[in-house]
Amino acid sequence: MPDTKAKVLVVDDEPLVRTTMSLVLGEMGYCVRSADNGFSALREIRQEMPDILLTDLNMPGMSGFELLSVVHRRFPAVHKIAMSGAFFGSEVPSGASADAFYQKGTGVNALLHILGTMPEIKQRAPQPSSAPAPLWIHRNGHGSAPETCVTISCPECLRSFPQALDDSDGPVRETDCIHCSSSIQYAIVQPEDRMTA
Ligand SMILES: [Zn+2]
Repeated sequence: MPDTKAKVLVVDDEPLVRTTMSLVLGEMGYCVRSADNGFSALREIRQEMPDILLTDLNMPGMSGFELLSVVHRRFPAVHKIAMSGAFFGSEVPSGASADAFYQKGTGVNALLHILGTMPEIKQRAPQPSSAPAPLWIHRNGHGSAPETCVTISCPECLRSFPQALDDSDGPVRETDCIHCSSSIQYAIVQPEDRMTA
């Protein structure tokens, strides 16, 4: 076991699973937090990066499949374990981008074994915070009045939401995703030359 306690984030919509996992893993020396769905999990990850993400696959809102794919792209350093009672065996269910799979109900020892197979948690150097490139949004130029609203697709949770435009803003604007509250920088592309009849 590493000197520093590995940080585990448990994601499950069932309170009992969260409580049990937190107790058991806490007892084993892991530093455990929990979240009840994909969106709150992303908020937790943004607050503090866990070493290991242990997530249920079937959850309302954002499923574990979606959460794993977002974490895979955005937080590649996090080790990912999928868990479910609806899949059997030790193979990661297809479509889940996880490093390992824990079949729910197979016992604490099975889970601890899987956690033990995670590569040694390295002391992570603080990652250079390169500002992400802004999203480029096409303003709909059709019609006489300029559109005052654009649709933004969140790069973190992949959800879309409408965003009102304020023309006094600079070229690169910033907003928070209404779903996962991640901060998104975006820039408006002015419409190409209007079509002439
Ligand atoms: Zn989002």
